[in-house]
Amino acid sequence: MVDNKWTLLVHGGAGIILRGALSAEQDEGARAGLTKALEAGSTLLANGGSAMDAVAAAVIKLEDDVHFNAGRGAVFTYEGINELDASIMEGATRRAGAVAAVRHTRNPVLLARAVMEHSPHVMLSRDGADAFSREQGLEQVEPNYFATPERWRQLEELKANKLDYYDIDMKYGTVGAVAVDQHGNVAAATSTGGLTGKRWGRIGDSPIIGAGNYADNRACAVSATGAGEFFIRLGVAHEICARMRMLGEDAKLAADHVITELGQLGGTGGVIVTAPDGTSIFSFNTPGMYRGRATSDGEKYVAIYGDE
Ligand code: ASP
Repeated sequence: MVDNKWTLLVHGGAGIILRGALSAEQDEGARAGLTKALEAGSTLLANGGSAMDAVAAAVIKLEDDVHFNAGRGAVFTYEGINELDASIMEGATRRAGAVAAVRHTRNPVLLARAVMEHSPHVMLSRDGADAFSREQGLEQVEPNYFATPERWRQLEELKANKLDYYDIDMKYGTVGAVAVDQHGNVAAATSTGGLTGKRWGRIGDSPIIGAGNYADNRACAVSATGAGEFFIRLGVAHEICARMRMLGEDAKLAADHVITELGQLGGTGGVIVTAPDGTSIFSFNTPGMYRGRATSDGEKYVAIYGDE
C-alpha cells in the first residue's frame, strides 16, 4: 500500500558531546553533513524510492564527510591504519550484508550492499572483502584517502595517555540511517571506522547484524552507535525489534529499555529507530548524539546536544 508517507533518520555518533567542547567549525560542519545526508535520502523517498536506497544514499554522504568516523575521516587502528566496517539490512526480506576491516573501498556501505545483493553470504572481512569489492567494480581508493590529521592526532593522544582502546573522551562518530518508505518498508545502514587505537583485528557492533544494525518490517529498523562491545553483548538492534514484535512495545519504550540495560552493564551510546507506521525515535544515554530527521510532513530536524 502506498500512502505517500516516509521518514528518514540519520546519526553521526553519540558521546560526551557538550556545548562549548566543539569548535564552531566542528559544530557547523557536523550539522551541514547531517543535513546533506538527510537531503540525499529524502529526495529519493519523496520520489517514491525505497528505504534501502535512501539509507545507502544518506550513509554515503556521511562516509564522504571528514567530520564523521566512517569512510573518509575514519579513526586509526593502533598500527595507524584505517579499517572500515559497515552493514545494511532490508526490512521486507530481512536480507542483510556486512563487511569488516576493509581498507580500500571508498564507500563501505556500498560494499555491504553488494555482499547482500551479489554474494551468497552475509558478512565478508579483510582482504577477501577487498577482493570482492574489486570484482564488483566498486570505487577503490588508496588507504591514505581515509586519513585526516585530526584522527592521527587523536591516535597519538590516546597512545600518549595510554587510554587503551576507546576513543578519546568517548565521542563515537559512527554513522547510520534508518528509513521507512512510501510502501511501509524499513531499512537500516551503519558504517564506521570503529574505535581509535583498536588492536588485534578488533571488530565492533556496527557490521554485526542484530547488534549495530537491524531491519524487520514486522517491527522496526535500528542503527546504533557507541561502545560496540556492549552492543554486541546485548544484541541491541535485534533486541529492540524483538521487544516491539513480541511484547508489543512502541519504538520509544523498546529502545529506552534496551539502552537503560546497556547503561546498567556500563555501556554508552545510542540508537535511531523507525517503524513501518512512520514512528521514529532517538534513544541515547550520552550527553549528545549527532542526529537528524526528515519526514514527508516537512519536518527537518538536526541536533547535536542532548537538550536540543
Ligand atoms: N560502535 C562503534 C564500534 O564499536 C563505534 C562508534 O559507534 O563510533 O566500533
